[in-house]
Amino acid sequence: MTNHLDTKRKLESEFTGMQDYDPNALAVNVARRFILEAIDPVKEIEQVKILRSLGRTVAKDVNSPVDVPPFDNSAMDGYAIKASNQMPEGKTELEIVGKAFAGKPFKGKMSDNQTVRIMTGAVIPDNADTVVMQERTRTVDRTLVMETKIPKGANTRKCGEDLKKGEVALASGKLIMPSDMGLLASLGVESVNVRRRVKVAIFSTGDELISIGQIPKPGQIFDSNRYSLNGLLERLGCEIIDMGIIEDNKKSLNQALLKAGDQADLIITTGGVSVGDADYIKEVLDELGEVLFWKISMKPGRPLAFGKIKGSYFFGLPGNPVSVMVTFYQLVRDAIKRLQGEKSKQQTITHKVKCRGTIRKVPGRTEFQRGVVFQQNGELVVSTTGNQGSGILSSMSQANCFIILQPQEQTINDGEMVEVQFFDGIV
Ligand code: AMP
Ligand code: MG
Repeated sequence: MTNHLDTKRKLESEFTGMQDYDPNALAVNVARRFILEAIDPVKEIEQVKILRSLGRTVAKDVNSPVDVPPFDNSAMDGYAIKASNQMPEGKTELEIVGKAFAGKPFKGKMSDNQTVRIMTGAVIPDNADTVVMQERTRTVDRTLVMETKIPKGANTRKCGEDLKKGEVALASGKLIMPSDMGLLASLGVESVNVRRRVKVAIFSTGDELISIGQIPKPGQIFDSNRYSLNGLLERLGCEIIDMGIIEDNKKSLNQALLKAGDQADLIITTGGVSVGDADYIKEVLDELGEVLFWKISMKPGRPLAFGKIKGSYFFGLPGNPVSVMVTFYQLVRDAIKRLQGEKSKQQTITHKVKCRGTIRKVPGRTEFQRGVVFQQNGELVVSTTGNQGSGILSSMSQANCFIILQPQEQTINDGEMVEVQFFDGIV
């Protein structure tokens, strides 16, 4: 991370011309870029077996030690032939001299004018280069009859056509998906070098918060943010250090942050980042680390702190449960992926779909409303989940997408197109 002054200067220059509403608020895209630039991936690498590698990030290129497939083989059940042995016109007749099964190659010799019955995955016999589908042939005793000619190489899979020996099979930075587990296995590779898991310390702040199992006194509510965060972080494969609820006072916050800074790569807190009388996060952080406070030009989720304490990165998210989730998805998630060393080529994809109902909006901020996309008369349409208050967590629970409304956009009318981001793939 650059030093505090550099950072401030950089941000100020980013402001110019990019803000259209609150000159002190930072555009979502600018915040996103800044966060990504500030973060370096965790360095330590560990070797894990394929079966333990799902969701981890490849730390060193995996080069294929073999050709895949390792030999020319049949893509069909049929007959192996040499294409040049086919008659130029009319039918071809060949003598059937044996069988080739997957895993049990044909051991004899196939001469010109001969053919071998072959199954999918079986080695193509010497002197053959083509496979004719069984359905395109008939047999008379031990003679194969083909009525039509087929091109050389048809229905065969060439040695190394998937991957050549030495070629990069999985590049550093690749998020390991189920397909990659299979791919590694196809190379005969037993384990893979991945970055170690990212350690994330979380705690909730708020004197009104109680834990599940306690009886609420007047004015008290259950702490839900830590539970949403646990889920979000588990999905991303993080190691979670759950520090519980921390009181709204400087001493407790100070202690908690120092402890978190000792253990974690990233600290995420919720609540206490506004300007209320019990919002101490800012004061405490000013003493402890290099932290920036942002009013982000987004709804929900306006106040947010980002920076560094000791060797850890820090996100101070707002307290409202929906704001926590929205800021996590839009800003923290990418930061975690960056810490994990992921170099994804897949961008966050959004779609344009037709809006059902009216969505009220005034120009100024980027809004992330919660929506449900569904099929109506053969097309995709979206409607909001209703009340969009930042405390209404059921709006997140019912939704399957964010409806993203850009800063300049105004009220959207029924039938207009809106941009949506599906939760699938990000959650
Ligand atoms: P704050 O940002 O601390 O001012 O909190 C904003 C709102 O979110 C208040 O209504 C808090 O009671 C609520 N809130 C803060 N933290 C949590 C939490 N962990 N779980 C549920 N609600 C919370
Ligand atoms: Mg609070």
